[in-house]
Amino acid sequence: MLGKGIPGWVLFTKALGHDPNNHSGDNFSQYSNQNLGVMVRLNNGYGGAGTLPFQSKYDDFAKRCANYVRASTGARIWIVGNETNHPIEWPGADWDWSVVPPQPRSPDKRGEPITPDAYARCYKKVRTAIHAIPGHERDQVLVGGVAPWNPLTTYPGNETGDWVRYFQDILVHIGPGQCDGVTLHAYTHGDDPNLIRSERKVGNETFKQYHWDFRCYQDFMHAIPANMRHLPVYITETDQGDVPWRNENTGWVKGAYGEIDYWNQTQPQKIRALILYRWPRLDQWYIEGKEGVIQDFRDAMDFGYKWTTYTEPGQEEKLEALWRRLRALEERYHALQPQIDRAKSLNDTLGEEVQDLVVLAPDLQDAATLHTQIQELAGDVSGLEAELEKLGSTPTVPPGAVPRPSIQDVMADLPQHASARWPVRPLADIRRIVIHHTVTSTSVTPQRIAQVHVGQGKPGIAYHYLINGDGVIYAVQPLTRIVLQATSSAANRRTNADSIAIALAGDFREGRNVEPSDAQRQAAAALIAWLISERRLGGVIEQIVFGRNELGESVLSPGTQWLDGVRYRDKLFADTKAILDAASECADSEELANLRMEVTFLRTEVARLEGVAAQVPALQDQIGQLQITIGDQAAEIERWREIAEQCQDAGALPEIIDVRATLPHHPTLPPYRNRTQPITKIIIHHTDTPSNFTVEQIAHYHVYGTRPNKSQWPGIGYHYVIAADGSIYWCQNHETHSYHVGAANAYSLGVSLIGRFLRVGYDGKPQAPADQLPTTAQLESASRLVAWLMGEVNVTDIAQVVGHKEVGQTTCPGDQWRRGVNWKKDLHARIEAQRLGKPMAFYLLF
Ligand SMILES: [Zn+2]
Repeated sequence: MLGKGIPGWVLFTKALGHDPNNHSGDNFSQYSNQNLGVMVRLNNGYGGAGTLPFQSKYDDFAKRCANYVRASTGARIWIVGNETNHPIEWPGADWDWSVVPPQPRSPDKRGEPITPDAYARCYKKVRTAIHAIPGHERDQVLVGGVAPWNPLTTYPGNETGDWVRYFQDILVHIGPGQCDGVTLHAYTHGDDPNLIRSERKVGNETFKQYHWDFRCYQDFMHAIPANMRHLPVYITETDQGDVPWRNENTGWVKGAYGEIDYWNQTQPQKIRALILYRWPRLDQWYIEGKEGVIQDFRDAMDFGYKWTTYTEPGQEEKLEALWRRLRALEERYHALQPQIDRAKSLNDTLGEEVQDLVVLAPDLQDAATLHTQIQELAGDVSGLEAELEKLGSTPTVPPGAVPRPSIQDVMADLPQHASARWPVRPLADIRRIVIHHTVTSTSVTPQRIAQVHVGQGKPGIAYHYLINGDGVIYAVQPLTRIVLQATSSAANRRTNADSIAIALAGDFREGRNVEPSDAQRQAAAALIAWLISERRLGGVIEQIVFGRNELGESVLSPGTQWLDGVRYRDKLFADTKAILDAASECADSEELANLRMEVTFLRTEVARLEGVAAQVPALQDQIGQLQITIGDQAAEIERWREIAEQCQDAGALPEIIDVRATLPHHPTLPPYRNRTQPITKIIIHHTDTPSNFTVEQIAHYHVYGTRPNKSQWPGIGYHYVIAADGSIYWCQNHETHSYHVGAANAYSLGVSLIGRFLRVGYDGKPQAPADQLPTTAQLESASRLVAWLMGEVNVTDIAQVVGHKEVGQTTCPGDQWRRGVNWKKDLHARIEAQRLGKPMAFYLLF
């Protein structure tokens, strides 16, 4: 390649391992500086080491790849893994390849299959890691080539191991916004150059739709999802199958490059490389030193095959700037994602532990700015879209890409001379288009014309395209062939070398067909417009398209009516210009299409982010309310502490109202027994009623069981009840074994505070903060009562004053007994203060 001054590709393959602390790299500058495109295939290892590591090591592998890219110079295209549908590339695999079908040597030597979803996960990690390196944001990270004809990777949905399906599933898992391009592998089965264009199919019922030779690349191309047809494709391995390269110039190499060039001429998704496997003498497929193969390759280069996209220099810079902006926006998008996640996890945390709020407060600030940031991002994406639209609608690329008309390729079916061949030319030599007529019926077939031409001793049909009277376009000769169109002068020999021959079936003289039918002329216009656009022949049709009789020969073709009479030339040119004009209005480039697709992807991602972020304001409200509650409660507590201190000095005693005789008793049930065990615990309850309930009402529902699922009792269950205003009611004798705390009734006294000290009220709605806690008066009374009781019944240890929920399954005496405000602690402190500050006898005054 270098000898011919033609740019080309060189591919290196590297075993990197997956040590995230390995920072080594390579220098490829000596190649990239010589106009060679450098591709590097990133492998974990070879054979049983796995081209990718075990799935648990994908993160490490991605780090290692990024380290390698960062430390390497002269390469910007990276391929992730190799033939991952082939067990020979799986981590931990050791198979016996001598049996049919191949088998793992033992069940534990099967290896970890690399399924499409696993591959896609690894690919995305590696790509993200590489793009995160400054200066490598636009590196191409390519999907590794899939081994054609290998059915050994099966998984649900692909039970036959279909390699094309495997390839397609990988792309679907990765998705269009997260892929830079793909690589393919294609081979012939044998060294016959005719196998390059062979339509031979796989000799197996399951896979009979797939090509058995080089054209297996077309099976892969057709499987690329429609939304990924803008991506670059590289064929990174080709050879003659199991046969090593024969040291002979067979034309196989020329044929392969010609085939890919034909694909590129006729298909919108271009193949940018065809790389022969392989140069160095590392295995049986080496080329180094095989002069015949090398000469075949040199000959192929004479064609100057080149894939093209249309991008003008000025536009290139604009696109570059847009790409940079897009990358920056993508980065911002990714930066926002963790904040969103954190905001969501806040919500879960909130439910349980209110006291953590103080710690979470800084995150709240993030949440507050999050929405704004996303909105800004969305705004920027809109701006980018608008610019892209402007750029796209400006006809900067004359002429625009004209759609390819429908063309039937019959080249392989036409008769040829036994030995003679038309000379070849590089496609870049093409400058002009020459129109012929066939002087036959308008329905003549390409086969018939080829027969006639070969019969005249020509190497083959002497046109490149034939269009019949119905407007059917046949491709009859590769554009790389120089066909004999005009003969009489040196100037005309040059015409042959630089022009494309289009024949219109018919005889366009007065008295014959006169002029082409509308269908035929419109087909010709579509073909000419497409050729002008595709081959970039220029902007002035009069300088590109000629009738054969305009080239200095005394011939009639393409008929007297071309320039005289009906002058169908004018109609043809008008039709062609109309197509070119229409195309230039929607002129587009591959790059632009690419950008558009990525922006669309980003747009959907941002929309998703907006959706998640929409939850944030509600979350913030909730947090805000809780903060207020906590603030209020902290103030309350402080006030209580002050009061407690005052109480120690004042020593005012609450009145105790004896209602033992007046509360209702059950009319028929026997009265409560007297206890047989000493009292060792004092139990604190809430009544789980509205705070304005009276002690009578409470006794009533205990006695008559009026609440759901409650049985009837002999009398009120509590020994004491304390109202919200602090009034203390004596309800049962201390020795009465009443019901309030299940199994612990036998040795417990029950003291109940009227109220429902829960966050949620009976109606299921949040209660006011004040209703979630006892009143100060209630607490104060409770502390005095309990302090007195402790002396009275000889429960001396404060630890024996417990909440109902500490001895049974219940929410009593409320949510914040031991959490949140923790009023148990407060009550205990008050009780202790009472006990230490006052003689017990002081309380015996009622
Ligand atoms: Zn209770």
